[in-house]
This record gives sequence, C-alpha cells and structure tokens, in this order.
Amino acid sequence: MPDKKAIITQIESNVRVCKKCELCLGTRNAVPGEGNIDTKIAFVGEAPGETEDLTGRPFVGRAGKLLEKGLEKIGYNRADVWIGNIIKHRPPENRDPLPDEIAACEGYLAMQLEAIAPLLVVTLGRFSMNYFFVDGKISRDHGRFIKAGAGSKKFNIFPMYHPAAALRNPTVMDEFMKDFIQIPKILDQLKNATSGSVSAQTPIEPEDKNQLGLGL
Ligand code: URA
Repeated sequence: MPDKKAIITQIESNVRVCKKCELCLGTRNAVPGEGNIDTKIAFVGEAPGETEDLTGRPFVGRAGKLLEKGLEKIGYNRADVWIGNIIKHRPPENRDPLPDEIAACEGYLAMQLEAIAPLLVVTLGRFSMNYFFVDGKISRDHGRFIKAGAGSKKFNIFPMYHPAAALRNPTVMDEFMKDFIQIPKILDQLKNATSGSVSAQTPIEPEDKNQLGLGL
C-alpha cells in the first residue's frame, strides 16, 4: 500500500493538471494545499485568492496573515498544521464558487483528509463548513464542535468564520479570535477521548441526509 506522503504527492500532482471544471482556464496556479501531513489539525478554507493563485500556496495573502496570527496565539505556526481549500483554482474576481465547481473539486479534499486523518478539521467560512455539513449556518454553528462527513469518513469539525470576513467586520473578528483560542482545549478533549481517559465533548451529529455523500 502506498504511504501517506506518496498519496498526498499524487493528489497534488493530479490537482495541478486538473481540468474538471472551467476554473483552471483563467488561473496561473492550482493550489492543492500544504503543510504537515502528520498533523492533528487541518484548516480548510474556501478557494484561492489572488496571492494564492500567483504562488500556488494556500492562505498567503491578508487572510493568511490573520490565520497565522491566530495560530501564533495558540502556540502553533503554519508548518505545524495542514492548510487547504475545498476549491483548488481561483474563481474569477474571487467570486463565490458555484455548486458544479464544488462538486468537481470535492474528491480532492476528501482524499487529502482521508490520507492525513487529522483529529480536528477547522473549517474557515460557510462554504468550507457546508462541504462537511450541508445545513450548517455559520452565524449559528461557528465555535461548535460537530462530527460530520467527507468522503467515506466522518471528521471532527470545528467551524469558524472565514478570516477574510473577520478582516471586514470587527464583530466577526472578535468571534474569530474567541473561536481560535478554543482550539487547544478541543484538541486536548479529542486526544484524551482517543486515549480512552476522558470522553470528548458530545459532538452534534447532523442527520445523515445533511452530509455530503462523497463516494470516492
Ligand atoms: N481564502 C481562502 O479561502 N483560501 C485561501 O487559500 C486564501 C484565501
């Protein structure tokens, strides 16, 4: 069986030549995702912006700087975690991704997360949350621990506002930072639960019908 690194490298190569939707036509680089593939935490955003399209790297613009600030607050840096997006090519003018673009791209993230198997997936913004939990509402569900599906697997999801939304609105910024500093506590609960010593905070189980069935 190929090892995790080989699987991730193969997915990244496939993403770089992907033509499953028209987004690839107007872009300079695909942005497959990057970071520590042995991490306990994965951050999942929406789609590359301009700086990401230029560099081929996720969250390297203003929103990325805020993500790094949050990571620093909890004693991490970006090399400790994995960072990716649900959409791998930049939508024109940073418009919202369309349902068929999300559908075309969905298998890549599902395969990446299945290989990395993080203990916690922090979703950034509503599109990322809705990838795992279709009926999620960001204003209601941010900062709540949810167990939800991607591909054939369920993940521990912690939805947060998107850092770009936090940069636009001071109230959202407060919520974003409040949620961020909860991450170590949630991670500790999950680690203790997996080691069998303490039970994790009871996850909210969305109805199966609300989960994306990403048959891979
Ligand atoms: N916004 C995202 O959702 N992802 C990025 O990589 C950059 C900005």
